[in-house]
Amino acid sequence: MKKDFIFDVLKNTPNSLTAEEIYNDVSQKVKINLSTVYRTLNNLVEKEIVTKVVRQDKIAYYELADENSNNKYYMICDVCNNAFPTDILDVNKLTRKIKRETGFNITSQTLEFHGICPECTKKSKI
Ligand SMILES: [Zn+2]
Repeated sequence: MKKDFIFDVLKNTPNSLTAEEIYNDVSQKVKINLSTVYRTLNNLVEKEIVTKVVRQDKIAYYELADENSNNKYYMICDVCNNAFPTDILDVNKLTRKIKRETGFNITSQTLEFHGICPECTKKSKI
């Protein structure tokens, strides 16, 4: 099943991936086209097996859903453009609090911190 190949790619990486990145990997193992990758990913998102995160660069990133995935947000380095997931703050708790106190039914959230990662900070000092 093509779905299993996509699942494996996501399982074997700690990072979230774009549909193109998943396609590049899976297409080396099995004959597949990009629209199938998109369709399969949407299907997995509907079943809540995969989480889709649209970052402020408007690109959708996919990762396997787990109990912590809703809890993750990203620090984006403005120099190397890497995204670093973090869960220092409990986003689920924050979401529940907002829902409780405002009555706003929150369906999704994006939280991004921009800055310069430790690696790039180190390089800039050389
Ligand atoms: Zn960096």
